[in-house]
Amino acid sequence: MTPSLVDVLPRAKTAPDSAVLIRGAISPHSEKQSPARRPLSVDRANSPHNLTRRWQAYSVVTAAGSTGTEALTRLATLRQHQQDGRRSPHKPLLVLLALGQLAVTGSSKLAWSDTATRLAALIKEFGPTSKTGRAQSAAYPFTRLRSDGVWQLDHDVPMDLITPLAAGQVVGQFEPSLEAVLRANRALVHAAARGLVESHFPATLAPDILAAVGLDPDTVLRAGDVLPDPSAETNARRRDPRWRAAVLQAWDRQCAFCGYDGQIAGATVGVDAAHVRWFAFDGPDGPDNGLALCALHHKLFDVGALGLEHALHIQVSATFTARATAGRALYDLHGTELQPRPGTTVPHPDHVTWHTQEVFKGQPLAA
Ligand SMILES: [Zn+2]
Repeated sequence: MTPSLVDVLPRAKTAPDSAVLIRGAISPHSEKQSPARRPLSVDRANSPHNLTRRWQAYSVVTAAGSTGTEALTRLATLRQHQQDGRRSPHKPLLVLLALGQLAVTGSSKLAWSDTATRLAALIKEFGPTSKTGRAQSAAYPFTRLRSDGVWQLDHDVPMDLITPLAAGQVVGQFEPSLEAVLRANRALVHAAARGLVESHFPATLAPDILAAVGLDPDTVLRAGDVLPDPSAETNARRRDPRWRAAVLQAWDRQCAFCGYDGQIAGATVGVDAAHVRWFAFDGPDGPDNGLALCALHHKLFDVGALGLEHALHIQVSATFTARATAGRALYDLHGTELQPRPGTTVPHPDHVTWHTQEVFKGQPLAA
């Protein structure tokens, strides 16, 4: 009998050892169903051995059995960005596209001919600036994701080359055991999507990315985060609950870029505390990594249309365009110097450099 998976209980992202139960049609007294959950030390939590063990400890019982569990563990390794803080969202974006395809059609199959343009557009919009051509930027994850053990192509083509992908009308899809485990439990599709999108992108961009790949942002972002997080550091870090209020106060509760300071009944509305270096990329909840930004400028800062240079002048990306007056108002911000009140800690140059290298799109407008 095939076990049915009926329930995924959400857990906090920062509590990796809290319970995640996926109940199957297996006796509660089964050995597989109720092993003791032992807290893992953060130092040991990210070894491949422990990732597998943690899956087992969570009683993930699937139609694909241990093979599917291994496939999910391999998928989880894509949550980890490179240690030096360089962004590499190509493979996660392809996986998100395949998860969306699976959610919509019941199969993760993606033909290169249909996928190249969509994937390239996602990489261009949400990835760091690159001189790589569009098709080439898509060919890289489409061929290389195979080496992560979660993806296969129906033709054996070389890595990175566009021509064989097009000539062979190549189709890619998840490796069979991963495909089976995801098909058996759609909640895992959403959980995997949440884990990946939150590991590589800030909250301002996650809904747009999920919608672009055909996944419902509300459903995904409510899903239990059951995908193991190989980043021990991420597991160990906690959001500082005082950070937002401290940043808003330091910047007079107004957007550091445009001065917007709206309130409703005395409470600030539409102004966020924005990380310069993203939290998911080791950006600290510290005063030298925060700016108060209105919701619009926060999003434009996170997508790389806005940036800073070291003397704290605002930079507008030359890739940003607008036709109407409200949009064109952004051009006027270019070169404007931040005006912090006396005593406010300004963004640290290292965080500004990270944002410039990893987020800011292309070149700034001419002075
Ligand atoms: Zn603003």
